This record gives sequence, structure tokens and C-alpha cells, in this order.
Amino acid sequence: MYFISGILAIIIVVLAILQSRKVEKIEKEEEEQINFESNENIKLYNTQNDEIEEVNLNYYLLCVVASEIPFKYEYEAIKAQAVVARTYLFNKIVNNLEEQGDVCDDYNHCQAFTQLEKLREIWKNKGFTESEINEGEEKIKKAIVETKNQVIVYNGEIIDALFHASSPQKTEDAKAIWSCEDVPYLKSVDNVEDETYENRTSQTTIPYSVFKNTLIDNGYVEDITNDDFFNISISEYTDSGRVKTIQVGSYKIKAEDLRTLFGIKSTNFSIDIDEDNIVFNVIGYGHGVGMSQVGANTYAKQGKTYDEIIHHYYTGVDIVDGYTVQRRND
Ligand SMILES: [Zn+2]
Repeated sequence: MYFISGILAIIIVVLAILQSRKVEKIEKEEEEQINFESNENIKLYNTQNDEIEEVNLNYYLLCVVASEIPFKYEYEAIKAQAVVARTYLFNKIVNNLEEQGDVCDDYNHCQAFTQLEKLREIWKNKGFTESEINEGEEKIKKAIVETKNQVIVYNGEIIDALFHASSPQKTEDAKAIWSCEDVPYLKSVDNVEDETYENRTSQTTIPYSVFKNTLIDNGYVEDITNDDFFNISISEYTDSGRVKTIQVGSYKIKAEDLRTLFGIKSTNFSIDIDEDNIVFNVIGYGHGVGMSQVGANTYAKQGKTYDEIIHHYYTGVDIVDGYTVQRRND
């Protein structure tokens, strides 16, 4: 009898210990959760359902960084992207740049934003294991927490932290492609990129009829003759070596407009024309302005830290700690 009660007592004690460990574990998980969450929420405009959602600032940054850069990239490159993403968002808020909310989820307008649950599904479909996915998520969370409140400024003003995927050799000057005012921190700089990047070079082939009709439909030309087509040439380059304009008959067309019209990966291209098609042979991916993500990863592999990477791509900037967002409409 005593023997059985003894055993029972031991079982009860063991169960109690296990239970308290479980509680501790849950508390620890909750604590980690709380530490990751920011005290601030932002207003995210959901372009799919036309609604504004309140989301936690750090959750927004997690989804942006995870949507914008592969989690397998070097940690310092991910940290750089975290500071860039925060800066990009705060600039939108401080300067009241959006019509709806603080920022939207459309990567053509703001930064890419996919909900975490959906991202995890995408990663799973790409063949990543559950533990790789968890590690990737933790890596990005850590980068956001470690760079908490850090943003990029130029002369004390928050910058427009533009970035793109790849620009082998040189990034682009904002003024050169958008004919905007001079932006002192968005200048062309030398760039080194991993040559194994899958979109380092690409080709876009557009049939003559599609090329002609798209330009006519979008008001770039009134008409193009066969002769005009066969004599298409590059008329001007920017200082970084990208195409600035091409000549089609009597029309000059901006390469940046061609890039967005035809989905050409960058304006760093050469042209071939055969009987039926215009072929763009392209180097790099994106507008080429600001930080190159492939370059950031390459520099991180060489031992550069996230702040060195940021200083490399944004000329004359400072990274400040403890920036507080002042909403103009508050
Ligand atoms: Zn937007």
C-alpha cells in the first residue's frame, strides 16, 4: 500500500514538474513574441480588397523583408534590407506620400508585402523544410529587432530608400533615369555582384506587331513603318552605361518607359532586330537605383557589415538610432 502511494506521489511530482516546464516554455514563447512586436501599429492599405488594416510595425517589416529578399541571403544583407524597409516606410509616413493609409502592399507602388502565412506556404512549395523556414523567419525577426528604430537620413532628413535586385558593375543615378531633381544620395556607384545570380543576364523578345501596337496604344508614337523598325537604334546612354533613349523613326523613347511597358528586366541592354522581333539583351534586374540586393549579399559574403553596405549604396548618408515618426496629419 505504502509502496503504491509512494509511486503515485512520485508520478504526481513528475507531472507537476513537467507541467511547470510547459508553462515556462509557453511564457518564454510569449515573451519572445512580445519582444518582437513593436509598440507601434501602421496603417497598411490592402490593394486587393481596398481596405486599410492596422498591422504591427515589426510584423509589416518582417513580411516586407521576407517578400523582398531571400532568407538564405547573408545576415548582414538582411539587416541592411530591414533598415532600408523601415526607412522606406517612415519616409512614406513622415512625408504623407500615400493617398490611402501609411503604405500599400503593391510592390509596383510601395514595397512588396505578402502575409507571413502565405510566405511560409510559398517557401514550402519551393522545397524548404519546416526547420529551414522557421530558421529563415527567426533570422529576419532578429535583423529587425537588432536594427530597431534605425533609419537612414541625409542631412538629418529621412531618405527615399530605393532599392532593386541587381545592377552588375554600376548602380544608376536617380536623376539620369527619371529626369527628376538631383538626389544627392541616389548616385551611381560601383557595384560588385555574384556572377551566379540567376537574373544577371536575360533576354526579352517582342514581336514587331506587339512592339508597334503597344507604343501606339500608349501614345509614344503615331505609327511605325517597317523601315523605322529595322533602323531602331540606341540614341543615348546614361553615365552609368545604361540606355537612356532609343530612336524609333522620328521618335525618341525613354528606355525606362520601355522597361516598364515591356517588362524588360533593366535598361542596361543592347538591341538585336531580326525579321519579326526586337530582342533586348539585358544585364541586371530592376531600375538600378539605390541598394542592389544581390550586391548587398555579395558584399556581406566579403565581410562587409549592414551599415557599410548602406553607406556604399546611399552616398553621404547617416544611419540614426531612435528615430521617431512624426505624422504630418496628426
Ligand atoms: Zn503605395
